[in-house]
Amino acid sequence: MRIDGIHLTHVRIPLVEPFRISNGEVAEKDGIVVAVQSEGLTGYGESSPMSGSFYSSDTPESCWRQLTTQIGPAAVGKSFGSLEEACQWLDEQAGSNFAKVGIETALWDVEAQRRGVPLHKLLGGERERVDSGLAVGLYDETASLLRTIARYGEDGYKRVKIKIAPGHDVELTQAVRDEFGDIPLMTDANAAYTLDHVAVFQRLDDFGLLMYEQPLGGRMLAESAELQRQVATPICFDESLESIDDARQGVDLGAFRIANIKIQRVGGFRNALRMYELCRKLGLSIWVGTMPELGIGQAQGAALASLAGCDYPTDVEASSRWFRDDIIEPWVEVREGTIAMPQTPGLGYRIDGAKLARYRIAETDITRR
Ligand SMILES: [Mg+2]
Repeated sequence: MRIDGIHLTHVRIPLVEPFRISNGEVAEKDGIVVAVQSEGLTGYGESSPMSGSFYSSDTPESCWRQLTTQIGPAAVGKSFGSLEEACQWLDEQAGSNFAKVGIETALWDVEAQRRGVPLHKLLGGERERVDSGLAVGLYDETASLLRTIARYGEDGYKRVKIKIAPGHDVELTQAVRDEFGDIPLMTDANAAYTLDHVAVFQRLDDFGLLMYEQPLGGRMLAESAELQRQVATPICFDESLESIDDARQGVDLGAFRIANIKIQRVGGFRNALRMYELCRKLGLSIWVGTMPELGIGQAQGAALASLAGCDYPTDVEASSRWFRDDIIEPWVEVREGTIAMPQTPGLGYRIDGAKLARYRIAETDITRR
C-alpha cells in the first residue's frame, strides 16, 4: 500500500440547531475531508474534532496544522506491506488521534475498494442494518428538549440520549420520563461532575436509565470506580477511553461497564477494533459514538456499529438530524430507527465535490517532495 498524495479540504456546514453540551456550544460543524490517493484509488476519511476544543483539546485548526505540516508530508511517498502496517506506522507518529484518523480511515476505504468489499465487511461487520439512537443537547427551556425528542422520535430512533450538566439533570430526566414514559433513555454528562455529586446519580438511579455516559472527568478513573460502587446504573466511558491502556485500567478498577468507542477519539479503525476486541474479551458492553462527524465519519461509525457485540444503538444519526447539508451522496438515512449498510465496495457513499467547494474554508494538496 503506497500513499501517493493527500488532498485536504476544511469545510464548515451550518447546524440545524446549536449543539450544546455541559462545557460548550457549536452552531456550525467543521470537518477536514482527507482524500488519500493510493495506486490509482482514492479513499476518504475525515478529521472531525469539535471546534472550540470543549470535547478534547483538539480543534479543526490544530488538526489542519498537524496534517499539513507533519503527518501528511511524512506519509506521502511511503509504501507499506499491508494496511495493518500502514495504520501501525501512523499510530506511532507524533500528533493527535483526531488528526491521524483522517488518513487512517481513508486507507481502510482504499483497502475495501481494492478488495471489492463494502467497508463494514472489511471491518468484520455482521449486520446489514444498525440501530440508531437520538442524541439531544442542552436547551434553555425543558419544553424545547421535549419538542426535539418528539420531532425526531417520529423517525423511530431506538433510544434517546439527553445531555446533562450540574443543576440540569434530575428534573430533565423526570420531564422526559413524564412525557415519553418508559423509552430506552440514557444521560451524557460529558465529564461535568465530581464525586460531590454522588447523590444526583443516586437519584437518577430511580429512572431506570440504560447508562450514565461519562459522569466524571476523563482522567478520574478511581473516582469513577467509587461512583460505580455507589450507583446501580452502569457507567459508560467516552472521554476516558483514549487508548487501549485506558480501557484496561478502567476495567481493572471497576470504573465502567459500558464502552463508547469513537473512531475519531482513538485515531482510526485499527485502534477502534483493538479496543472493541479488548472490551469483548473483558465482557463489557460496547457501542459506537460520534462527535458527530459529517457524512464520511458518520458512515464509518455506522459501519463499525455493524460488528457483533455492539449492543446498544449507535450515536450515528441521519445527516438531516444535525446538518443543513452534507458532503456525501446519498445522505445517511434513518428508517424505522435503523441505518442500512451500503453494499458497494469501500465507504459506499459518493463524496460530493460541489458541496466540498461550496462549504470550503481551506484546501491544500500534499504531494511528494
Ligand atoms: Mg459522550
